[in-house]
Amino acid sequence: MKYALITGASRGLGKAVAIRLAKDGFSVIINYQSNKEAAEDTLRQVQGLGGTGELLPFDVADPQAIEAALEGWQAAHPDDYISVLVNNAGIRKDNLMVFMQDEEWNKVLDTTLNGFFYITRRLLKDMMMHRNGRIINMASLSGIKGLPGQANYSAAKAALIGATKALAQEVAARKVTVNAIAPGFIATDMTKELNETELKKLIPMGRFGKPEEVASLVSFLASDEAAYITGQAISINGGLYT
Ligand code: NAP
Repeated sequence: MKYALITGASRGLGKAVAIRLAKDGFSVIINYQSNKEAAEDTLRQVQGLGGTGELLPFDVADPQAIEAALEGWQAAHPDDYISVLVNNAGIRKDNLMVFMQDEEWNKVLDTTLNGFFYITRRLLKDMMMHRNGRIINMASLSGIKGLPGQANYSAAKAALIGATKALAQEVAARKVTVNAIAPGFIATDMTKELNETELKKLIPMGRFGKPEEVASLVSFLASDEAAYITGQAISINGGLYT
């Protein structure tokens, strides 16, 4: 059995990714922070497709919680390792920088960037030892072009892309690939308060993306067919100019 850990898999993109990777034959480890009901729904959908999975709640910004959860997982699966890691959990706390509070800056960086660091470092050794691994980081259009009102989020996502490119070069010889995905506007809870009618006018495709469309890209990057793709930040944004 091959295992894939998806952070923030209770809702949105992470949920779609977990369902898709289960369809691809992975046993999925569904991480979430607090929304147990939604995470259980992801697991139900996975099992409904004949797939297997389990819940593994922890706060991706809390190194002790990560360590405890992953130790517990390893103890329950002594002969297994996680070969696919999707660092997907992320939050927005938008504000113009002139008004931005320390908490708004730190929380976004802690979740996106420090979360990536703590979890990836923990799982990397096993992937390198087995000479097989896929690390897929959910960045954003915001991390490529920068968006006003999102200095914290743009900084976190741009840093995630930089770390993706550096790490890819460190581990390529061990057959571990590291890539980032940069979605534009995708219809999830994160974007539901945005003015979709206005924003759609900026998108050449004329619509928001679907979580399943991002999940298809994750599925490809996680597959054996993507073995020669590493260190990339791949945009999926309906043609938005970046
Ligand atoms: P979403 O619908 O708001 O879902 C966020 C997910 O992350 C939930 O499962 C949530 O768990 C989890 N999460 C948040 N903080 C966490 C933490 N500290 N520890 C563990 N899990 C945590 O967001 P989304 O739209 O699916 O976004 C997923 C990723 O894609 C994010 O990194 C986001 O920045 C990126 N992205 C999204 C878009 C878009 O248009 N939607 C565009 C570009 C990039 P709970 O349910 O327990 O709260």
